[in-house]
Amino acid sequence: MNDCLFCKIVAGDVPASTVHEGDGYLAFDDINPKADRHVLVIPTEHHGNLDDYIAAGGDAARMLTFVKETARVCGIAGRYRLITNVGPAAGQEVMHLHWHLLAGDDLPGFH
Ligand code: AMP
Repeated sequence: MNDCLFCKIVAGDVPASTVHEGDGYLAFDDINPKADRHVLVIPTEHHGNLDDYIAAGGDAARMLTFVKETARVCGIAGRYRLITNVGPAAGQEVMHLHWHLLAGDDLPGFH
């Protein structure tokens, strides 16, 4: 999608620090980390949020397997928090499905 920031990252038009990629997904460091380790995981195809991804027939198990593999690549397997915001009312600012993969002390969100 032309005006989507994360589609521009996928296309290489906006720089990002890639940590893992393949199988239709991309993981890169969040530009404004909210934890010691904060990685974003996205499908390379544009989907506005998780609801849109599921409605389009997206494979949630495959996506979450990629998330799990990203945690392993990042050295945070077994000690991470996973969050996705669906819609502006929930805090979503970038309208391309993304998972916040967080690890470290004082993680944001639930305890
Ligand atoms: P959300 O509020 O769930 O939509 O989260 C959007 C996330 O994207 C925030 O954590 C931002 O820090 C992050 N972000 C915004 N622009 C960039 C960028 N160019 N590269 C990496 N992360 C970004």
